[in-house]
Amino acid sequence: MNPQEMLLEHVAMERQTAWRAGGVARFGYAPSSEIELASFLKSNSRPDLPLFFVGLGSNLLIRDGGLEALVIFTHRGLSDIDVTERDRDTLFYASAGVALPKLARFSANMGFEGAEFMAGIPGSVGGGLAMNAGCYGSEVWDYVERVRTITSDGEIMERVPSDYIVEYRKVSGKGQRKEFFIGGWFRFNVGEKEKSRAKIKELLKRRVQEQPLSKPNSGSVFRNPDGDFAARLIEKSGLKGLQRGAAIVSNKHANFIINSGGATAKNIEDLILEVQSVVKLNSGVKLKREVHIMGDHC
Ligand SMILES: Cc1cc2nc3c(=O)[nH]c(=O)nc-3n(C[C@H](O)[C@H](O)[C@H](O)COP(=O)(O)OP(=O)(O)OC[C@H]3O[C@@H](n4cnc5c(N)ncnc54)[C@H](O)[C@@H]3O)c2cc1C
Repeated sequence: MNPQEMLLEHVAMERQTAWRAGGVARFGYAPSSEIELASFLKSNSRPDLPLFFVGLGSNLLIRDGGLEALVIFTHRGLSDIDVTERDRDTLFYASAGVALPKLARFSANMGFEGAEFMAGIPGSVGGGLAMNAGCYGSEVWDYVERVRTITSDGEIMERVPSDYIVEYRKVSGKGQRKEFFIGGWFRFNVGEKEKSRAKIKELLKRRVQEQPLSKPNSGSVFRNPDGDFAARLIEKSGLKGLQRGAAIVSNKHANFIINSGGATAKNIEDLILEVQSVVKLNSGVKLKREVHIMGDHC
């Protein structure tokens, strides 16, 4: 089938984002392979619209008025995961849509260590590369050997870490035009399968204890300011339990906002703004958002 015929119209983003809230994307497309994506972009029938990539939507809020863009959904079709060995050098390749926990388990099962921290991050490889996702002292880019990217007109390229400025939860190209991640090669150390699997189990247990995982949420809403924790500042300001509509600052982890059922994107964004302003007033710290907010207000 001609990939242009697979263009979806009016895609409900509440089904594509972890907060289970938000508006509609004007167009969406879920490629079944990197090659199909390239061919789709080369013959894109809507080059007038901005292009926006979405992985597992675990760090994203689309405003209730929707997103006037062509959204590429990576998680269904960009799902290759593989290991290659050349001259005793082992590299793992994962396409953008592979879930980070899957890469963690895959590498552990192959007897490699390092990726265990990814097991509890419910995002995709593409999202992890775009955000430099991390926890427990490790970050995705600590393990990147090369990445494969694509331009909005479908040109596929390979790049190395020195082509990027990699910061805490932020990655930017060094002057190159806009490119999106379609996959990455990762280097992990040789380890012990059972040890890595046990570590994954332990880290997941820790998350269940510390995070409000039974309700839709987007993980940490704010970045930790230098030398401090956003959760500590929010808790100190007495904001746990603060509610706007069905959006609530979690009582379990103050840097999480949960959707207790039927929250709108506006409820969530209003709560984010309120937390920012109260924390600023109480402690002088302007919390910076970690979650990405896109789209139009109603
Ligand atoms: C319960 C929970 C726990 C979490 N814990 C952590 C944690 O410990 N550490 C942490 O860092 N994060 C954490 N997160 C946040 C989130 O999982 C990560 O930021 C993750 O990397 C986002 O990946 P995603 O595929 O969901 O990205 P999305 O939410 O789909 O997108 C996020 C941003 O990345 C961009 N993007 C996505 N794919 C691509 C691509 N292929 N190319 C270019 N840009 C792209 C999007 O355009 C968007 O701007 C947590 C979230 C939840 C819900």
